[in-house]
Amino acid sequence: MKFGGTSIASIERIRNVARHIARERQLGHDIAVVVSAMAGKTNELAGWCEEAAKLCDRREYDAVVASGEQVTAGLLAIVLQEQGIAARSWQGWQIPILTSNEHGSARIKHIGAAAILDGFAARGEVAVIAGFQGLHKESGRIATLGRGGSDTSAVAVAAALGAVRCDIYTDVDGVYTTDPQIVPKAKRLDRVAFEEMLEMASLGAKVLQVRSVELAMVHKVKTFVRSSFDDPGGFKQGTLICGEEDIVESQVVTGIAFSRDEAQITLRRVADRPGIAAAIFMPLAEANINVDMIVQVASEDSGVTDITFTVSAADFARAQTILFKAQPEIGFSSQHGASDVVKISAIGVGMRSHAGVAALAFKALAEKGINIRAITTSEIKFSVLIEAAYTELAVRTLHTLYGLDKA
Ligand code: ADP
Ligand code: ASP
Ligand code: MG
Repeated sequence: MKFGGTSIASIERIRNVARHIARERQLGHDIAVVVSAMAGKTNELAGWCEEAAKLCDRREYDAVVASGEQVTAGLLAIVLQEQGIAARSWQGWQIPILTSNEHGSARIKHIGAAAILDGFAARGEVAVIAGFQGLHKESGRIATLGRGGSDTSAVAVAAALGAVRCDIYTDVDGVYTTDPQIVPKAKRLDRVAFEEMLEMASLGAKVLQVRSVELAMVHKVKTFVRSSFDDPGGFKQGTLICGEEDIVESQVVTGIAFSRDEAQITLRRVADRPGIAAAIFMPLAEANINVDMIVQVASEDSGVTDITFTVSAADFARAQTILFKAQPEIGFSSQHGASDVVKISAIGVGMRSHAGVAALAFKALAEKGINIRAITTSEIKFSVLIEAAYTELAVRTLHTLYGLDKA
């Protein structure tokens, strides 16, 4: 069972979480619980690091931001004990959850399940595990898994323990056709295929961290998304993330996602000759900057062309600096950037077998006067880049267009 930040934002809510745990214990389960920090806590801790030093030591950043989960793990263990349920807290290094040394976005490499299984067998103890954190063994330092990483801790722990299932409790009662906080007409989905959930998560639906979905898919962890605000006494299932073969009725488009974490860069009057794309994108790749959408205008006889592409908002300034440095080799006339852009995506495994799905969207967006700056497509999704001011209008338009509105 994993509980996110809003679900454990106060002692009262932690007591509510304990009721969910008590219910599952009554059903006879051994339980490992993974907790996030209280809502807003990680932002506050990260903010302090940035205030202390603009580019702080990432290892110390991890030492600071990992503390939020230490607090909630301890508090939940206290509340459980108070209710007569045997429990103890576990920090990442105590289990241990071993990770790579990519501080701030480390990957889990190994989880030692023995101590937790022993706690079940010998003491009937609920294991309350601090999410988001692990240990880089070689350096002996704490590492964190990237924002939203407690989801990944939870699925990884479930896989390591051979759990019957992994329930991700959050502030909505499942995965919806789009963010229900933005589109009230969004529908809850009973089932979502792993591939679709992977795309939705990586294209902006923050309900699950992308890596948690990858792990669930690879290790076949039966993962449910549920609400901690549902009555702890009543049993509601939420959304099951499952294999495509387990979905009977599949729509062409399953969901709409959006990401504001985008920035657009345009290089004007770039020479149209072999090697130019490499000259632009190699330096960015070497700096570990991911480029997403790329549009190159076909040149006429002038021998020059414009290239537009997107990077994540966090990499925007760095990418611009790198390109200016490389200007002599690339040879563009000017560089333009925009961060007031948003990427809107439609996702569905049904796209594999249906033609013209994206074309319908282009038409519908045009009818609303929304200009498309870049497009990408793949087998089960397409994305458009538009001006940020149109985010809600565009999401709602596509949601209605593909018949996703609830009746
Ligand atoms: P937690 O703190 O429990 O991890 P998050 O805030 O990380 O919760 O994720 C839950 C939020 O994800 C919801 O409140 C909702 O606004 C957002 N969200 C975005 N897209 C979706 C979607 N397709 N389905 C459900 N929730 C979504
Ligand atoms: N507390 C961390 C975050 O806010 C991890 C998580 O909540 O999943 O990103
Ligand atoms: Mg989250």
